[in-house]
Amino acid sequence: MAWDFSTDPEFQEKLDWIQRFCEERVEPLHHIFPHAVRVPDPVVRAYVRDLQQDVKDQGLWALFLDEELGGPGLGQLKLGLVNEILGRYPAAPQLFGAAAPDTGNMEILAAYGTDEQKKRWLEPLLAQEMFSAYSMTEPQGGSDPRLFKTVAVRDGDEWVINGSKWFTSAGRVADLLFVMCTNGIFIVPRKTPGVEIMPEPRNHNHIIYTDVRIPLDHLLGPEDGAHILAQRRLGGGRIHHAMRTIAQCTMAFDMMCERALSRVTQGEVLARKQMVQEMIADSWIEMEMFRLLVLRTAWRIDQYNDYKLVRKDISAVKAAMPGVYRNIASRALQIHGSLGASWEMPFGKEVIESFHMGLADGPTEVHKVQVARRVLDNYVPCDDLFPTGHLPKRRAAAEAKYGDVLERHLETH
Ligand SMILES: Cc1cc2nc3c(=O)[nH]c(=O)nc-3n(C[C@H](O)[C@H](O)[C@H](O)COP(=O)(O)OP(=O)(O)OC[C@H]3O[C@@H](n4cnc5c(N)ncnc54)[C@H](O)[C@@H]3O)c2cc1C
Repeated sequence: MAWDFSTDPEFQEKLDWIQRFCEERVEPLHHIFPHAVRVPDPVVRAYVRDLQQDVKDQGLWALFLDEELGGPGLGQLKLGLVNEILGRYPAAPQLFGAAAPDTGNMEILAAYGTDEQKKRWLEPLLAQEMFSAYSMTEPQGGSDPRLFKTVAVRDGDEWVINGSKWFTSAGRVADLLFVMCTNGIFIVPRKTPGVEIMPEPRNHNHIIYTDVRIPLDHLLGPEDGAHILAQRRLGGGRIHHAMRTIAQCTMAFDMMCERALSRVTQGEVLARKQMVQEMIADSWIEMEMFRLLVLRTAWRIDQYNDYKLVRKDISAVKAAMPGVYRNIASRALQIHGSLGASWEMPFGKEVIESFHMGLADGPTEVHKVQVARRVLDNYVPCDDLFPTGHLPKRRAAAEAKYGDVLERHLETH
C-alpha cells in the first residue's frame, strides 16, 4: 500500500527555508528591481550574487537539473513542491538559477550537447553570465510544426540559416538563440550578422534570419533531431509552468478569502453570501484537483524517467492549467469589486497570463487532442450493434451466468 501524500520532514525544512528566503529577501527586491539579475549596476549585482550564493549554499541552484547534468537532482515531485513556492515570486526562478527560457535550453544542452558545447555555453548559462531564448514558432503558424520553413543549409564548414521566427521570448536580450530549423536545432549567437530583431512585439520577438552563418559545431544534437529535442525541451517546460501556476492560483485564492472575510455589504461580510461561498468552494476544488494532477504527473515522470511515457499526463496538465488559473483569478477579481478591476491588484494581469498559458508551448486544443488520442489507444471498438454497456445485453450475460441460482430463488419464493 504505497499511497502517501506527505512530505518528508527533512525536505519540509528545505521548503520552509525557501519560503522564508523568498518572503524576506526575494519579494522586496522584486518590487524595486523587477529584473535584478540583468541590472548592470554593480551594487545591485553584488546584492544579487549574495542572494544566489545563499541559494547555492543550500544546494538549491539550478534545481531543475538532474545530478548527472549538474543540478541537485531533486526529481520532478520535489521540484513541484519547490516551484509551488517559487511561483509566487516573479524574481525567484532567476535567483535560484531556474528561469525560463534558459532552463529548457540548458536542459537540452546538458542532455545533447558535446563536452565542448557544454563548456562554451552550458557553464556560462548556469552561471548567468549568458542568457538565451528559444526560437521555434514562425509567423505562418505555431501549432503545427509541419508548417515551419526555417532551414539550415550546409555550405563548406558552415551552416547558413534562413527563415523567420515569431514570439521568441526575451530574444532581444539573449546572448544565444536556440533556433529550431526543419533539420535540427542550432545555437546562434544573437550578434551574428543576418540576425535582425523587429521592433515589435517588444518582449516576444519577431526575428528574421537572413544568410546567418554559423560554424558546423553549432548544431545541437543530431541533424534532423529538432523534433526530439523540442519535445524534451517543451515537456519539462510545460510541467514546470504548471507547478508555478499552482502558486499563482493559491495566491489569488488567498486574496479572495481574505477579502471575503473583510468586506462588509448589506450588514454582513461577503463570506456569508452563498454565491460568494460558491466561488470560494469552486476555486478550492479546482485548485486542489489541479494540484493533485500536477504532482501525480511529476511523480510519474520520476517513475518512468522518460517524457514520452507521460505525454498524455503532461498534455492534460497543460490543457487544465489556463482554465483553472483563469477561473480563480476572475473570481478573485470579481470579489474585490472595482478595486479588483484596477491595476492596483494583480488579477487583470493574471487573467491575461492565463491566456498566455493556453498558448505558449502549444495551444490547449492541441493538447486536448493529444490526451484524447492517447486515452483512446486503450480502447477497442465494439463489433456488435449495441454497445458493451447496453443494459439488456449485460442482464442477458448475467442471467447466463447466474440463471440456475435465479431459478432456485424463484422456486423457493
Ligand atoms: C506568452 C507567450 C510566450 C511564448 N514564447 C515563445 C518562445 O519563447 N518561443 C517560441 O518559439 N514561441 C513562443 N510562443 C509561441 C507559442 O508557442 C505559440 O503561440 C503557439 O504554439 C500557438 O501558435 P500560434 O500563436 O501561431 O497560433 P496558431 O497556430 O495560429 O493557432 C491559433 C489558434 O487556433 C486554434 N487551434 C490550433 N490548432 C488547433 C487544433 N488542432 N484544433 C483546434 N483548434 C486549434 C487554437 O485556438 C489556437 O490558439 C509564445 C507564446 C506566448 C503566448
